[in-house]
Amino acid sequence: MNTIKELIKVGSTRLAQCGSVSSRLDAEVLLASILDCPRITFYTDPSRTVSVEDAEEYQRRIDRRAALEPVAYIIGKKEFMGLTFKVSSDVLIPRPDTESLVEAILESVIPKIKQDTSHLRVLDLCTGSGAIGLTLKFFVSSAAVTLTDISDKALKVAEENAQALSISNITMVESDLFESLSPEEPFDLIVSNPPYIPDGVIPTLQKDIVDYEPMLALSGGVTGYDLYERITREAGLYLRKGGAIVLEVGNDQETRVAELLEKQGFRAITMVPDLTGAVRGVVAWKE
Ligand code: GLN
Repeated sequence: MNTIKELIKVGSTRLAQCGSVSSRLDAEVLLASILDCPRITFYTDPSRTVSVEDAEEYQRRIDRRAALEPVAYIIGKKEFMGLTFKVSSDVLIPRPDTESLVEAILESVIPKIKQDTSHLRVLDLCTGSGAIGLTLKFFVSSAAVTLTDISDKALKVAEENAQALSISNITMVESDLFESLSPEEPFDLIVSNPPYIPDGVIPTLQKDIVDYEPMLALSGGVTGYDLYERITREAGLYLRKGGAIVLEVGNDQETRVAELLEKQGFRAITMVPDLTGAVRGVVAWKE
């Protein structure tokens, strides 16, 4: 019979050898997902025995992680802003960086748009798992939130997340950016974490990302700005006066994205830092 302690030791040693930088944590999360218990159990009850079937399943999950598949895909979920999001290889795994953006939107952008959020109309373009848009709807339940994605598979994941979080009254539209939306019903806030990695940079990313996350959610074309160019060109049409657009940006992309926004008449542009202090978002206003 295997004990928790032995399984964690063997699993984390193997993952460390295979290049995981968080081998112990990974092993614990994988085992916790099988035993359906909090990780604290591993410390309070290390000699608890694990059934043969569970130990075999653990071994299979360790094998997947040893091939550098992200833990979130193996266990099928990821925490974002304290909420649990289902993820599959059809969607990008929500990042802590993006939490900084959502916090800034909740704390300083939405209150500046309007105090009374009962008629607040929000659009999350390229929603993927729905992390940004559904979190905004969760915390500002009176808002009318629309989620769009070009991928119907991603929208299915977002839909499952809405259900799992008991969020109703969400509009989901399969759309290539604004294509299937109408400018006659403008939004107060447009948010997007579009694909923004320059094609030449993609092969240099961690294997966990390149080999497993959807290229559709990563690739921003040769320069990385393909989607920003399209979004900034069209956003003004779908935003009402006094509304804001908030875009996540990749490393060192903020200056160019701010220029693109300014060129289209957006003003009062500000930057949002992530937890490392790097700029991760750009906020701009339609006057
Ligand atoms: N932040 C992601 C990464 O660094 C990329 C997300 C995106 O392209 N929107 O892998």
